[in-house]
Amino acid sequence: MRDGSDDIAAAAEALAARLPAAIRPLAAIAMNYWWSWAPDGAEVFSEIDVDRWLRGGRNPVRLLQEVTTARLAALAGDQSFVERVRRLDEGLQREREAPPRAGLLPGSPTAFFCAEFGIHGSLPFYAGGLGVLAGDLLKQASDCRVPMVGVGLFYRQGSFHQRLDASGWQHEYWLDTDSERLPAAVVTDPAGSPLLVEVPLAGRTVRCQVWRVDAGRVPLYLLDSDVPENSRADRWITARLYVSDREMRLAQYVLLGIGGMRALRALGIDPGRLHLNEGHAVLAALELLRERVAAGEPFEDARVAVRRCVMFTTHTPVAAGNESFSLDQVRAALPGLPGSLALSWDELASLARVHPDDAGEGFGLTPLALRLSGAANGVSKLHGQVSRAMWRDIWPGRPVESVPIAAVPNGIHLPTWIAPEMRALLDRYVPGWTEACGDDTWAAVEEIPDEELWAVRRQLRARLAEKVRRRSLVERLGRGEPVAFAEAPGLLWDDNVLTIGFARRIATYKRLYLLTSNPARARKLLEGPPPLQIAIAGRAHPQDDAAKHTVQQIFALNDIPGIGGHGVFLEEHDMTLAAGLVQGCDLWINLPRPGQEASGTSGMKSAVNGGLHLSVLDGWWAEAFDGQNGWGVASDPNLPADEQDRVDAERVFDILEYEVIPLFYDRDEQGIPRAWLRRVKSSMRSIGPHFSACRMLEDYLRLSAALGR
Ligand SMILES: *Cc1c(COP(=O)(O)O)cnc(C)c1O
Repeated sequence: MRDGSDDIAAAAEALAARLPAAIRPLAAIAMNYWWSWAPDGAEVFSEIDVDRWLRGGRNPVRLLQEVTTARLAALAGDQSFVERVRRLDEGLQREREAPPRAGLLPGSPTAFFCAEFGIHGSLPFYAGGLGVLAGDLLKQASDCRVPMVGVGLFYRQGSFHQRLDASGWQHEYWLDTDSERLPAAVVTDPAGSPLLVEVPLAGRTVRCQVWRVDAGRVPLYLLDSDVPENSRADRWITARLYVSDREMRLAQYVLLGIGGMRALRALGIDPGRLHLNEGHAVLAALELLRERVAAGEPFEDARVAVRRCVMFTTHTPVAAGNESFSLDQVRAALPGLPGSLALSWDELASLARVHPDDAGEGFGLTPLALRLSGAANGVSKLHGQVSRAMWRDIWPGRPVESVPIAAVPNGIHLPTWIAPEMRALLDRYVPGWTEACGDDTWAAVEEIPDEELWAVRRQLRARLAEKVRRRSLVERLGRGEPVAFAEAPGLLWDDNVLTIGFARRIATYKRLYLLTSNPARARKLLEGPPPLQIAIAGRAHPQDDAAKHTVQQIFALNDIPGIGGHGVFLEEHDMTLAAGLVQGCDLWINLPRPGQEASGTSGMKSAVNGGLHLSVLDGWWAEAFDGQNGWGVASDPNLPADEQDRVDAERVFDILEYEVIPLFYDRDEQGIPRAWLRRVKSSMRSIGPHFSACRMLEDYLRLSAALGR
């Protein structure tokens, strides 16, 4: 078939050639990321050769290419291992072959466009929450048998890697993705050559090949301009995620939107819906328009038709996330664009402005997406409100509450983020927990005996503490820090100490610096008694010096005895590290400046693993916090920023000192913190089914169904 499934199958077959017959199905399993959320999937690969597994970044294709034939032969003779492979193989067949959900047509899937996809740590095509959410949604669509395809870019170098120097300053470097060893295949044409999609750019033609990555039933197509048919400069367009050069960035969005749409056509896929996840992909909607105008439809009719099949999700109120280009930049990149739409430049430009006649406004991707989509949404109730106020001028004369931007709160793909031990516990006590969709299915969490829940929490915390001890030693020595300092976490990190996490993209509005604003108090809390320990991680955008300084402020406290041992910064925040942190931490902190966090999702990941959330009441937490399921900081939006910072920081330290710490260390004679666990259960029960990708997908299906009417 032209859709690349044969190419994936061929890659699996090539990989299978070196596997003994009894475990040959492993090759096809390795070529589909379904294994990463299937029970026992990661465990099976890890068992093959745990060192190679970890060193190779948990990439099963690479593992199977490199593991010794002697080891493979031994595994083929191990009946219990062979049986586990057989069960995985059956599971994958079932996932692939189940009929689509009733009422949804497999022939007209939703095409989900996004500039980044976080499917797994071994596929470095994401920067943060936006990409991880996109990956979670594809996986959920697979689980729920909803016809969907993902469309994105194949970044030769992906996202950057992070190293800090001894002063805490972030340095970035990029590594080539070893595409030969990824669970991905280049889609070929009937003659067996790579299928090439042609995209007009700056008066020339850029060609892209298309990679296919499978996430269960859902294929993800990724465009790649690194082909010999292109000039050297054009081969670089898709090299790096969110490249800083503006011209190059626009070229990426041209390939994503226009190229992505053309790729679907070339693959024989006729999407029933386009879902633009963030404005980056908005040119896909223009390409749909162009197709209709080229077929002879008048522009206004074409626009009405396009709006009936395009949905748009805005993900941030922060200016840097709502990108805009100068008209000259757009003109240079797409000289023929208005002509192909039967519009003048003025008419086209006015579609990409909040105020159509304001020539001072740039070419805004968000206004354009809002004007070309029939349904739009923010990613939490509060963010829906914030977005309606932010973009209301696009609908002049409408009262703000009837601005057509709905709210679909984000949710997480539960099987991806829940630790195996917690999963086993939920399997036992909470039947149907994975399919729970905004109801009270998780009420059965209350039935889990405290002893069992606490045992799992202790296991997860101990695993994280071990990771912190190992990693911080290596990282600190690597930065040339004093040996005693490098060894301190190894001595001080304790499996039984209250463990706090803060890990996400480092952006200034996330206010990491609140944690370092009162060093004396921070030190007192860290040292105890009773003590606590905190792990911090995150990458700042390479251009964001202000954010990089907030990381340096943490390092500035390293010399204070007691802080640098209990508090660690871990480099290279990716999905693998994120999973370890959200699973192991007892308390998860988020401190956004109020109004600026659209949703946030890491707190949800922590909650379903039995962590408690302490956060400013912004984003998803503004609607999730009920007084019993964590802690909320009601930040006053009317204070000047520095005053707001001071008040919020003191409030966070107060909550830690007077509520969190006493509750965690309040134990009965068996050493179990009963009141803490009551709160954990109330958190799991209220958050699990409501902030799941399952509930989010159902919301999107409803939005999508309303579109066609
Ligand atoms: C979940 C996740 C995020 C999202 O973090 P928030 O600040 O809570 O939105 C960012 N990065 C990674 C790697 C994640 O897994």
